Amino acid sequence: MFGTRESTVTNPSEELHALVEGRRVAVLTGAGVSTDSGIPDYRGPDSPPRNPMTFQQFVGDPVFRQRYWARNHIGWRHMDAARPNAGHRAVASLERKGTVLGVITQNVDLLHTKAGSRRVIDLHGSYAQVRCLTCENRISRFTLHERLSAANPGFAERAHNVTGLEVAPDADAVVTDTSDFVVVDCDRCGGMLKPDIVYFGEIVPRSRVDAAFELVDEADVLLVAGSSLAVQSGLRFVRRAVARDIPVAIVNRGPSRGDTHATVKVDAGTSEMLGALAGS
Ligand SMILES: [Zn+2]
Repeated sequence: MFGTRESTVTNPSEELHALVEGRRVAVLTGAGVSTDSGIPDYRGPDSPPRNPMTFQQFVGDPVFRQRYWARNHIGWRHMDAARPNAGHRAVASLERKGTVLGVITQNVDLLHTKAGSRRVIDLHGSYAQVRCLTCENRISRFTLHERLSAANPGFAERAHNVTGLEVAPDADAVVTDTSDFVVVDCDRCGGMLKPDIVYFGEIVPRSRVDAAFELVDEADVLLVAGSSLAVQSGLRFVRRAVARDIPVAIVNRGPSRGDTHATVKVDAGTSEMLGALAGS
């Protein structure tokens, strides 16, 4: 009886291989692909609950902003030091082989680019850039680090003495006392600086959305990896694939909001599953 069942029922990872084989794939990734690089996914099934910052909190509350920059001053270096994992490397390898056309990512960690992916759409921006909300001047996070270090001598050293330093997906870090932290403004116009990251309550720039739609429109399959598609900014690409009548494959630990649209759903980690797909 068992033998009969096994001969008729294929497992989801085999279905995924069959679906991707010989097709052009657009990849959409979320926080789940970066957890094996040491960047926690605050929406994953095993993660502690966390309230992500909103744009309104950032611009509206100076105390909140001070705490944000103090934590980011420590946390961004951890994100900068993170290295791509097997999942990122697999996506880059599949692009070189011509299977993957490009990747749309909701992550701000630049790990796809660091892994060698060439066509990457950083939907929510990146931790490595900072922009002025008044004059739109952009500077590197490293340049800001030098200015913040000069304005806050000894702060990083004190923070490192706090045990159990935790880093969040938006390059935040948990630091206890931030009340004496000095925030710096744009050195061109004195405007408010903000990481060039799309926060809750902000919209993704139109040009990026268009570039991502273009990628989905060129593809035969949309592969979603490591995203629960909790936010509309990602789910819309699944809707686009459905509207175009191309199959959607989802690799994610736990349920996702796209599951009802998925031709194949693999409930698994992305490092192992994408690695297997790339034949590594
Ligand atoms: Zn400015």
